[in-house]
Formats: sequence, structure tokens, C-alpha cells
Amino acid sequence: MSKIRMTTPLVEMDGDEMTRILWQMIKDQLICPFVDLKTEYFDLGLKERDRTRDQVTVDAAEATKRLGVAVKCATITPNAARMEEYDLHEMWKSPNGTIRALLDGTVFRAPIVVAGIDPYVRTWKKPITIARHAYGDVYKNCELQIPGPGKVELVYTPADGGEEVRATVQEFDQPGIAQGIHNLDASIASFARASFEYALSTNQDIWFAAKDTISKTYDHRFKDIFAEVFEAEYKARFEEAGIEYFYTLIDDAVARVIRSEGGFIWACKNYDGDVMSDMLSTAFGSLAMMTSVLVSPHGYFEYEAAHGTVQRHYYKYLAGETTSTNPVATIFAWTGALTKRGELDDLPELVEFAHRLEKATIDTIESGVMTGDLAAITSLPNPKRATTEEFIAAIAARM
Ligand code: NAP
Ligand code: MG
Repeated sequence: MSKIRMTTPLVEMDGDEMTRILWQMIKDQLICPFVDLKTEYFDLGLKERDRTRDQVTVDAAEATKRLGVAVKCATITPNAARMEEYDLHEMWKSPNGTIRALLDGTVFRAPIVVAGIDPYVRTWKKPITIARHAYGDVYKNCELQIPGPGKVELVYTPADGGEEVRATVQEFDQPGIAQGIHNLDASIASFARASFEYALSTNQDIWFAAKDTISKTYDHRFKDIFAEVFEAEYKARFEEAGIEYFYTLIDDAVARVIRSEGGFIWACKNYDGDVMSDMLSTAFGSLAMMTSVLVSPHGYFEYEAAHGTVQRHYYKYLAGETTSTNPVATIFAWTGALTKRGELDDLPELVEFAHRLEKATIDTIESGVMTGDLAAITSLPNPKRATTEEFIAAIAARM
């Protein structure tokens, strides 16, 4: 059989721990036998990030701007324990944070719905897609530990020499902590546009929520920009499509989401999206059944799994024990990227291949062969709990 041809390479960002193991298995067994895979490879594994002083992350983001489509493996975001484990020079920032800051854009996360894996929330009948703003707020913050009494202020110094603006954050009379965060009107507007466009393209209602009653300037700005963009650019198109835009407070949104039937887009600020997408993916079945794509306003796409590096399974793997790690979201990251590459380069065979791989993956689960996370919750009778290797081999056999 001759392999399916590619023209433009994908940006391939390798990662850490168990997902790095999955990455290689997926390439070797599910993609490379069928596709003449072309990638520009960047090793975002923590060792290489540390060796290059995180330059490799920036290079990978720049390559994405050049080539347009990237696929990324989960990566470790270092904390104090990782500093020791990897003997790091610095506590490098989250690679996802760095990449999102460079590409801007919105992250869309949708559950992969499979027969036999039923949502925990009984009212949910359709997927709920989270549109996560991927720029700024606490992910691009500036923090201080306050050692003792003193004043913390916000100071704005206009570049044109205009008058300085100051606001007191807190007069500290004891040790504490302080944080400065920001966002940009242009980024919020492109977040709103990406969300409205996605709602139109999937013909679903869209909700947006913030805490404008408490954050009267910051969160209120998000609410206002969404309303302005909607009124000026989308109102008529939404009416025509018969879909709705709905704004409410974040806590009210959470309550309504639980009572809903699903089948809508939930646009979330950066932090809300981070937290709520983990809750939603788990409630829809498993963290490992959530697709994720960063869509930048400049037309770049970065595909990844929503879950992390599955550290606990990796240590078992290193100890020579069998694992049952779910590769579905990582497979769908690859198929998402290959589909987009195929569409952009007009390669229908590549798009067709990606769809077949998705179907083979879903069919494998629906036939009763699945990893432990799904076997534990499925409503299918007598599921076979496959090891990581067995599950991938079962998909390969279908391919
Ligand atoms: P995690 O890797 O998402 O795993 C948390 C738990 O969820 C696992 O221990 C496992 O539960 C379950 N799980 C997640 N993915 C699974 C899969 N594919 N198959 C089966 N079970 C799965 O989160 P974490 O352990 O908190 O974080 C580990 C590392 O990942 C951290 O260093 C963090 O910085 C990084 N991280 C990276 C990204 C990213 O690159 N996008 C996102 C989040 C976290 P059981 O152990 O109960 O089986
Ligand atoms: Mg999260």
C-alpha cells in the first residue's frame, strides 16, 4: 500500500511522562504505517526545555505561526517537587501558557461522546463545548510575596508622557501576597469573535459568564466587549441561524449548566475555562475523552489532549508494571491536526484517514474494548479492560 502524502509539515511538540510514551505508540502504530508523516519536531519534554532554557517552547510557537498547524503532547508544568526531580535551572512557566501568550486565541474543548459512556449528570443529552480564552489573567500574572507592613499599588505610566495613574491594592500591616493581572481589549474581542463564529459554525447557543458584579472594571470590560461585538457583528446572523447569545454571572452559569441538556458553547475566562473543562470532561466520562484546540485569530491551530502527563501511570510504567492509560484524547489531537492540515492543503485522503482513525478508536470502545478509566464507568455489559498496549493494538487491527 502506498502511504498517504503530506505537503506541509505539522509542528510536532513532544512532551513528558506517560503521554510521551503514548505519543510514540500512536505515531508508530496508528499513523506512520499509513501516512508519509511530515513534521517539524520540537522536544518540549522538561529536560530539553531546561537544557534550552525554555527556548524550545518559543521556537515551537514560532514554527506554529509559520506552518499554521501544530499537535502537542502533554507537558509537565514544573513545581517545587519537579525542581528537585529534574534538577532544574529555573521553575519554567507552563509551556501551554507560553504558547497561548504567543499565539493568542481561544481554546475549544469538547467531550468525545461514545455509546456506553454516559454522563454523570443525567440531564445532559448533548456535548457541552468550553471556549476558553487563552490569553492573560492569572496565566500571565505578576506576583509578590509581601514580607511585612507596607503599601502595594497599581501604577500606570502612559507611554505618551501623560499623567500617571495610581491605585492602592492594599496597605499591608502584616505579611501577605499580592498579584497583578491584565488583559487586552483586542484579545477579548477576538475571544468573543472566535466564540461567536464557533457557535455559528456548529449551530449551537453560546453562553458567556464573568463576575462583573464584584469585578466592576476588569470582568465588566469582558461583558461589555462581548455585548458590543455581538450587537455590531453577530446579532443578525444569530437570529437567522436561530441561535442565542446569553450572558450571566459565573456562579449562575455553573448552576444552569448542571440543570441543562447540553448542546451549547460555554465561553469562559481563562481560569474558569481551565477549571470547568476538567470538571466537564470528568462528568462526561473521563478526562481522557476531551479534545482541545487552540484557534488563534490569525488562523493558527494547535491541537492537544486536555489532560496532563498522567504521572501516576508513568511511575507504574517505569517500574515495569502494566498500565491502562487512555490514549483517545491524544489520538484525537493528532487526527484534529491531520484533518486541518488536509483541509488547508487540499489533501482529501489525509482528511479521510483522520476520520477513519477516529472511527476505529470509537468503534473499538463501542465493541467493548477500552482502558480502565472507561471500563470502570461504562454501561456496556462485560467490557474488556485493555492495557495501554492492547488498546492501541486493537485500534491498529481495525485500521
Ligand atoms: P493528569 O495527568 O491529567 O492526571 C490526573 C489523573 O487523571 C491521573 O492520575 C488519572 O487518574 C487520570 N487521567 C488523566 N489522563 C488520563 C488518561 N489519559 N488515561 C487514564 N487516566 C487518566 O494530571 P496531574 O497528574 O495532575 O498532572 C500531571 C502533570 O501533567 C503535571 O506535571 C502537570 O503540570 C501536567 N499537566 C499538563 C497539561 C498539559 O500539558 N496540557 C495539563 C494538565 C496537567 P488515576 O491515577 O486515578 O488513574
Ligand atoms: Mg485544567
